[in-house]
Amino acid sequence: MTAIAVLGSTNMDLVAYVPKAPRLGETVTGRAFRTAPGGKGANQAVAAARSGAEVVMIGAVGADDFGVRLRSALASAGVDTTALRTVEGASGTAHITVDDEGANSIIVVPGANAHVTGLEAGDDGRIGAADLLLLQLELPLEAVLAGALAARAHGVRTVLTPAPAQQLPAGLLAATDLLVPNEHEAAALTGLTDPYRAAEALLEQVPEVVITLGAAGSLYAARGREPRAVPAPQVRAVDTTAAGDTFVGALAVALGEGRAMDGALAWASCAAALSVQRPGAQDSMPSRAELVAFAAAQGVR
Ligand code: AMP
Repeated sequence: MTAIAVLGSTNMDLVAYVPKAPRLGETVTGRAFRTAPGGKGANQAVAAARSGAEVVMIGAVGADDFGVRLRSALASAGVDTTALRTVEGASGTAHITVDDEGANSIIVVPGANAHVTGLEAGDDGRIGAADLLLLQLELPLEAVLAGALAARAHGVRTVLTPAPAQQLPAGLLAATDLLVPNEHEAAALTGLTDPYRAAEALLEQVPEVVITLGAAGSLYAARGREPRAVPAPQVRAVDTTAAGDTFVGALAVALGEGRAMDGALAWASCAAALSVQRPGAQDSMPSRAELVAFAAAQGVR
């Protein structure tokens, strides 16, 4: 079984379903409200576990009710939570609106995630035991960097989702094997809105890049290869929350199982396409059995 370590955030998602997201200063009436476990790190951990990997989550939850739920959601997806600390104060929260088109906007309040230190990230022995380490930017950047460097020191492949978009610390991209931004994050990192040009620019710093493009699929670029467009299966999206995290989790598992990048990307696209057809973040992620069946129907083995 592929062993995946995730160094990342856990957040309780507080989701309001609205006909149309409010503009600044505007109040709108929502259709429904739900709470659901999320956070980019936890989402990628659950996606990877459902896709069939052995996953350990490294991070922190708060000493509140949300923290209890966040930990148990991970555990019930089969994720090892023994490296998830409980710290004083509130858990991370994400305040999300989902509109009738399925598009979302999000405010993240880090809470407990802000307490993950570079020291604990770098020292965690479980990174060295993994096949891949998944990283995002919802923890303090010194922790993300320390985790990436620890993985590098142990020859563990690193996959970085540079979200939310921000300035990266020196050395982080140099310790990244595969960078997976969406088109907005790719533009923020490079100043280039054309994903092909952005990918080319990013290849000066990392050996492989996948830029996700929503319903348009993704773009794969590697040093010394022509960039390649990867189509997304055509489905009716109801909620794209965590589509990118589902994509990354499934991609990591496929790569860990030894699939070549082309096949791994097709597999990840199937996982994400399944997730957008259901509401929620972790709730929307497919099991391996569902993924295998859907992939077969799409001609992906
Ligand atoms: P995004 O973060 O929006 O770029 O989406 C990540 C991945 O999820 C994409 O690369 C697609 O594989 C998949 N995805 C997102 N939206 C859709 C959609 N409407 N239909 C099918 N797949 C989607």
